[in-house]
Amino acid sequence: MRQRAARDQKRLDSGAVSSPKDLENLQREIASLAKRQGDLEDVVLEVMERRESAQERVAELTERVGSVQGKIDDATARRDAAVEEIDGEVASVTKEREVIAGSVPDALLGLYDKLRAQQGGIGAAKLYARSCQGCRQELAITELNEIRSAAPDTVVRCENCRRILVRTSESGL
Ligand SMILES: [Zn+2]
Repeated sequence: MRQRAARDQKRLDSGAVSSPKDLENLQREIASLAKRQGDLEDVVLEVMERRESAQERVAELTERVGSVQGKIDDATARRDAAVEEIDGEVASVTKEREVIAGSVPDALLGLYDKLRAQQGGIGAAKLYARSCQGCRQELAITELNEIRSAAPDTVVRCENCRRILVRTSESGL
């Protein structure tokens, strides 16, 4: 378009076009080409501006993605560490239980495991201040009297929830 305008201008300047009508047409074409060129330059400018703002947005979003990814990595690392710690604890508690279970008579261990399965994971409970810590019920006087007179190695159970009761100095007997 610029070349065409330059060519037209050259023809105009050369004086080769002499008819007033041709001259007028040529001038009009030069003016129209100049206007179109101006319009196109505006379009190019606008596109460049939009491209720049899109690039800024891309940079901003990329930064946010990076920050979120950092948080994810951090949380994942903390989760993995916690899982590792829990696994270690499970292994140590399991081993500890095995040792203790080995010293408990089979029949008692069988009863404990059965009760544990029936009573939501708690097969034995402390007798504390005359109450069963398994079901939180206070034992009746007659029951307490029976427990009091029972031999230390007798297995006593809660009259209410049937869990094995563990006697201590705080049992209130
Ligand atoms: Zn109970």
